[in-house]
Amino acid sequence: MKAILNILLFIVLILPQAGSAAVVDVKNIRVWNAPDNTRVVFDLGSSVKYKVFTLAKPDRVVIDMQGVRWTGKLDKKRLLGKLITNVRRGTPQKNTLRVVLDLKEKVSPITQVLKPNEVYGHRLVVDLHRRERKVKHQAPKAADKAKARIKVAIDAGHGGEDYGAPGRRYHAHEKSVVLGIAKELYRLIKKDPDMDADLVRKGDYFIPLRERTRIARQKQQADLFVSIHADSYKNTRASGSSVYVLSRRGATSERAKRLAAKENASDYIGGVPLQNKDPVVRDVLLDLSLTQQISESLDLGADVLKELGKVNKLHKRSVEQAGFVVLKSPDIPSILVETAFISNPKEEKMLKNKTHQKKFAAAIYKGIKHYVKSGRIRKIVAESPTR
Ligand SMILES: [Zn+2]
Repeated sequence: MKAILNILLFIVLILPQAGSAAVVDVKNIRVWNAPDNTRVVFDLGSSVKYKVFTLAKPDRVVIDMQGVRWTGKLDKKRLLGKLITNVRRGTPQKNTLRVVLDLKEKVSPITQVLKPNEVYGHRLVVDLHRRERKVKHQAPKAADKAKARIKVAIDAGHGGEDYGAPGRRYHAHEKSVVLGIAKELYRLIKKDPDMDADLVRKGDYFIPLRERTRIARQKQQADLFVSIHADSYKNTRASGSSVYVLSRRGATSERAKRLAAKENASDYIGGVPLQNKDPVVRDVLLDLSLTQQISESLDLGADVLKELGKVNKLHKRSVEQAGFVVLKSPDIPSILVETAFISNPKEEKMLKNKTHQKKFAAAIYKGIKHYVKSGRIRKIVAESPTR
């Protein structure tokens, strides 16, 4: 066999805006570590021509950006982690910035250029996906035991590039407070002999909305899905907890519609490569089985809302519905909890506070517990592999 070619991947993208002689500065670089991928984000003054390729022995990713300059400090400590062991930069040609990432293992990079939005300017995003590893088979006995329990997938909203809604007074970020509540809820459910739990997002990194439902249903084999968020509104007096479920068409209120649009913007802010988008055909098929899911979710949502009413005032007395992408699992009850308004300084303080995070988590837990105990939940014990 011939010597293995060093260059594994080679991408060239030419954007229409690029090509001017002006030099673009790298304003910032961020790294987000997820369990199976690491995201590297370059904040740029405008879109650029780039090339990304990998080299082996040792494993590296090289990012060449044309007409780009990076004169700022290279704060390595902030960039190194589970995957990246070193960062170097150079100028292989005049007007070309080269960034070399030394890696612990081989990766498949997926690169995208994101246009400015409300939060960020031009970004070059390089997602370094770790290669698939062999999945160890669980002992059948343990698997059977786990199957007998109701598995709850806990989805902490936002993460990484997507900060979610900002607090107004105490510098809280939605992505952090909801992860705190999610971890508390996880702890409570894990202690329950009738239930089991998994966190969809385990740290500070971004997961596309469709990927969240996929992780919950396929990877974690969950029976219930709970997405945890914090609300915000321009009027800082808006307050209270609310619970949402999916709507097949139309929203139950103008507010629910606006909120769904805001939560669905997550993918737009976080940046989802085209490869991750589901084909339209699948969406149509999903819609057919949603009616039962929605009616079950309304029951679950009502139980959770009732308990939330004991730890916080309620923003609305009933469960609302709108087209939340993250709730589009066809066969498992799925709810989205807006724990409190992070835009309201009083509630922001509560959301940041560990004791209050525990109270929110306990309320959600009790609501789920009540629903599970009522026997209204279908427990999937066997299924075809097409799920
Ligand atoms: Zn949110």
